Formats: sequence, C-alpha cells, structure tokens
Amino acid sequence: MKRHPGGKMAKFWLQYGGFILPALAGYQFYLFYLAYSAGDWLYVAVHLFAGLVALAVGVWIIKLRWFGKGRGRCIICQKVYNEGREMTCSDECHEELVRRMVAQFGEFKKVVRQSTGVAYRVPIRDIIEPGVREQELDRYPLWED
Ligand SMILES: [Zn+2]
Repeated sequence: MKRHPGGKMAKFWLQYGGFILPALAGYQFYLFYLAYSAGDWLYVAVHLFAGLVALAVGVWIIKLRWFGKGRGRCIICQKVYNEGREMTCSDECHEELVRRMVAQFGEFKKVVRQSTGVAYRVPIRDIIEPGVREQELDRYPLWED
C-alpha cells in the first residue's frame, strides 16, 4: 500500500491546512476588497491572486483530509483513515484481517531467505504487519515439509 507523503510538515498541513488556508484566503480577499476600495490596482491583483491560491490549496487539503484522496482505505471495513496501519484503520479491523488471512492461508507461511535459500516457518500474523525483515528470520523455526 502506498504511503502518503511523510514528514512533519506534510502531516501538519494535512491536519491544519484545511483551517489555516481558507482563513488566509479570507484575509487575502479582505485585503483585496480594501485595495479595490482604495483603487490600488497592483494590490488588488496581488491579494486576489494570493487569495485564490490559498483557497485552491486549502480546498485540495480539505479533499485529502476529509474525503480520502491519497489516504489509506481500510481493506476490511472500507473506511478511509488518516492515522493507522498500512492496510487497516484500527486494531479491530487488523484482527479481522489476520483472522481472514489465517483462514485462507493457514497460520504459518513458508518464507525463504533470499541469501541462503533456507525456509522458515513464519506466522501469518507477523508477515501482515509490521512485516518481517530478512535478518529477523533467524528467530523463527525452520520450515519442514
Ligand atoms: Zn477498518
């Protein structure tokens, strides 16, 4: 699953941009109005432009934040979520995912270590999330056919 752009800034703007930018746009439109009243055409253009840009970005962030484009969609309940895991929105849905995977594929999966060709017996639960790295495979029992 695709992660949305990380970083504290991106998170901050995703969280608060939907409030800050429309407010900023409103302020720019107010300055636009003042400049218009004063007949100051340079500032009319500047504030109109700034207002429209802030509004456009604000609307875009609101769409991301509340309407789910680019965010994760829970593969169990289909809910769009912002915080959470890679595939599911909550612990409950994660448990449900694990249950379904175990029902379909069994409790363990054969995982072959790329570098050595040795197969390990890894619980499905560990594979789903957070995932198993190659160097961690040693802690699992060997796969016996
Ligand atoms: Zn869910």
